[in-house]
Amino acid sequence: MSQQEDKFRKVISHAKEYGYVFQSSEIYDGLSAVYDYGQNGVELKNNIREYWWKAMVQMHENIVGIDAAIFMHPTTWKASGHVDAFNDPLIDNKDSKKRYRADVLIEDYAAKLEAKIEKEVTKARKRFGDTFNKEQFITTNPRVIGYREKADQAIQRLNRSLEAEDLADVRALIEELEIACPVSGSRNWTDVKQFNLMFGTKLGASADSAMDLYLRPETAQGIFVNFLNVQKTGRMKIPFGIAQTGKAFRNEIVARQFIFRMREFEQMEMQFFIKPGTQKEWYDYWKAERLKWHLSLGLGESNYRFHDHEKLAHYADAACDIEFRFPFGFKELEGIHSRTDFDLAQHEKYTGKKLQYFDPEEGKSYVPYVLETSIGLDRTFLAVFSNALQEEELDNGTSRVVLRLPSVLAPTKAAILPLVKKDGLPEIAHRIVEDLKWDFNVQYDEKDAVGRRYRRQDAAGTPFCITVDHDTLEDQTVTIRHRDSMEQQRVPIPALKDLIREQIDIKAWLSKMRSV
Ligand code: ATP
Repeated sequence: MSQQEDKFRKVISHAKEYGYVFQSSEIYDGLSAVYDYGQNGVELKNNIREYWWKAMVQMHENIVGIDAAIFMHPTTWKASGHVDAFNDPLIDNKDSKKRYRADVLIEDYAAKLEAKIEKEVTKARKRFGDTFNKEQFITTNPRVIGYREKADQAIQRLNRSLEAEDLADVRALIEELEIACPVSGSRNWTDVKQFNLMFGTKLGASADSAMDLYLRPETAQGIFVNFLNVQKTGRMKIPFGIAQTGKAFRNEIVARQFIFRMREFEQMEMQFFIKPGTQKEWYDYWKAERLKWHLSLGLGESNYRFHDHEKLAHYADAACDIEFRFPFGFKELEGIHSRTDFDLAQHEKYTGKKLQYFDPEEGKSYVPYVLETSIGLDRTFLAVFSNALQEEELDNGTSRVVLRLPSVLAPTKAAILPLVKKDGLPEIAHRIVEDLKWDFNVQYDEKDAVGRRYRRQDAAGTPFCITVDHDTLEDQTVTIRHRDSMEQQRVPIPALKDLIREQIDIKAWLSKMRSV
């Protein structure tokens, strides 16, 4: 097992063991690519959502939120292009009977070449030591150049064939690259076929009057169809944004990456309505702004990168992803799309209603252009969680597992621990819990030796442990232990609240966006 696979396996089992993520319907052997969040997971998820909502809605005077329904009029999805174009190209292996996304098979092939390049770079860095120049190496080393060319050619041809809807060529490419099924090892492939990702359902009681509906595959359309409602009732002036968080559903075929690719997931989207012609400047603005938001969480700058789309979706005139270094490599975390007037114009066409904005400065009406930021809540959860999980060697020769969640997002902010279960210490600990619980999520924990309780809280991601001991009886002070540094501080009980608040204050965390 590679180091990456091993790390990913640990992330999944830790998420289960500490009540973060469970497989859906596990007692029935689970449902593929569907997950439930446990007692800690729901808190982390809520905190991420709030962190996004505050940054987008509360901190921007010209952005407001909505909460649209999951069910929408079915014509919405005809207008948005999802009925005709929300497809994945699929291919089956005739021997294993396994189904794959044809584009993903080719992308995986290219990723393997990229991994080979990384290996060459690591080897060369060892060989050349301090004098190593990566840029020079990758532009001159013949082996690396060969890998890069092969990878680029494969991706470019894939994009060209998908663009031209030439599925026969996608299959030909898979054959030429000699891509084999990971399960059967054979290259016995079927034709490539398009498969729509939307889930259908029915509304209404009787079979003949029932209406075919879709579960929304993105939250964005709920914003577009409410554009005029919000603009008029909120008297919004362009530029302005509408934000929304909520569930989306996609019948994903490649579903083997835990909560990275789910069939039911949650998005946090914001559509920013702008004057036509200004989309380039707003695209650059939102790219920078969103990256700052990510960086404010402190997961490390080198874990993010932009990836510009070469093959644009049917609605976009520019698009990029913010990718994160997940345990299985760099992958999309958020999309930033310049959607032009595509969606509003399509809804005008299908409804016959004007979806325009009267611009008092211009003295005319127009269909606004739209800049979208779209981030997966579950993928952000995975980014934060997998980055936080660390195994550490300690000075005394032992090791510990610690979940270094950003304290602003941690499910439980502090655990209150009486050193022993007697001598009045539990009573004081309970009083501290009673006091702090009005402000933060706190937990009382008296089971096992205090060292074990520290380890348990480290692994659960709790940033502070507060220990009540016999000195507390004398001087009303307690020990506060910091999860990351393991440093301990003696503080008076009344000082606890401010001390914790300072560390977890959303304002302090978000204002880091200004300085990055
Ligand atoms: P991918 O290429 O990985 O399938 P996408 O380009 O289809 O993603 P978008 O349609 O741009 O994704 O959706 C916006 C965001 O929603 C993504 O950046 C991702 O964070 C999240 N997302 C999309 N599909 C899923 C899914 N199946 N499970 C979890 N999150 C998802």
